[in-house]
Amino acid sequence: MTATRDVGTPLGRGEVVLDVRDLRVVFDTRRGRARAVDGVTLTLRAGETLGLVGESGCGKTVTALSLMRSVPSPGIIDGGSVSFEGRELLAMPEAQVAKLRGRSIALIPQDPLTALNPVMTVGAHITEVLEVHLGMRGAPALERAADLMARVGIPEPRRRLDSYPHQLSGGMRQRVMIALAIACQPAVLIADEPTTALDATVQAQILELLDELKHETGMSLLLITHNLGIVAGHCDRVAVMYCGRVAETAPVADLFIHPHHRYTAGLLACVPRLDRQEKGVFYTIPGIPPELTALPPGCAFAARCEAATERCRNERPDLASVDDTGAHRMACWNPAGIGDSTSARAAVSR
Ligand code: SF4
Repeated sequence: MTATRDVGTPLGRGEVVLDVRDLRVVFDTRRGRARAVDGVTLTLRAGETLGLVGESGCGKTVTALSLMRSVPSPGIIDGGSVSFEGRELLAMPEAQVAKLRGRSIALIPQDPLTALNPVMTVGAHITEVLEVHLGMRGAPALERAADLMARVGIPEPRRRLDSYPHQLSGGMRQRVMIALAIACQPAVLIADEPTTALDATVQAQILELLDELKHETGMSLLLITHNLGIVAGHCDRVAVMYCGRVAETAPVADLFIHPHHRYTAGLLACVPRLDRQEKGVFYTIPGIPPELTALPPGCAFAARCEAATERCRNERPDLASVDDTGAHRMACWNPAGIGDSTSARAAVSR
């Protein structure tokens, strides 16, 4: 249960800050209605990092944008619930959501170059955010902007406040995006593939920085990535998405050691491992995901799954608990690692 509280009042570690239920987002296209998010259910707790993983196009980014009610046209949030600190975001007036956006829930987008304003210095951009959300102006706002730039590791922060985005390296632009996102000390930070375009050294620095900021401020982090190594190293829990739905969710170690959904098991098998790899042979999941405009009636993974049965093709599995704790949940009729198709479903409880 989540409790309604004043915005900005910190939650205790482990309390549910975001509670998403049966979220649905559709895009009406010339080829039909695409179900980009098709009944996503997940929770994010105060102070934790939840990794959101899955192949490109599985709905990770659209899910994240829905949490800020920022789905781009022609996308429409078609149903479900997004509760932020006990308040229903989907029912709020737009003006109220606008106050939360950037202030309480902030986003680090995939591509900082397109997110930053090319004709605005980064200092002007940061001080604008401080003015809009916190009412800070003039010297105190500039001081705070320089502090934020220093905090995210930008050298000569005062001088860099006068830089335009094109004058900064990719790593520095990403740091500016992080400075913007943490400017108001949000309760929830959504990082959408924040290191995809960066080299390995800068990637490690950015991820370390996010970890430090999370520990300092107690914020929650929703980390969207397709990199399972990043999930293993930086997340507390993970949700695996496939075709707009959560296929499996669990504490990280549990999911890596005991993946149950056949798609999760396939994703993990795709990770190259020096101790297991036959020379030059890499596993890939066969086939491609179905069109989001023509999802099958049953499990969306059925056409790619070696364990698919008639039931899989006709009946869509819901998320079900694997054990009594409810921490590990998956949506599969014939899970890996539990047993055969008859005993497997009996071993899981709804
Ligand atoms: S429900 Fe069936 S088709 Fe889908 S992943 Fe599980 S076994 Fe495979």
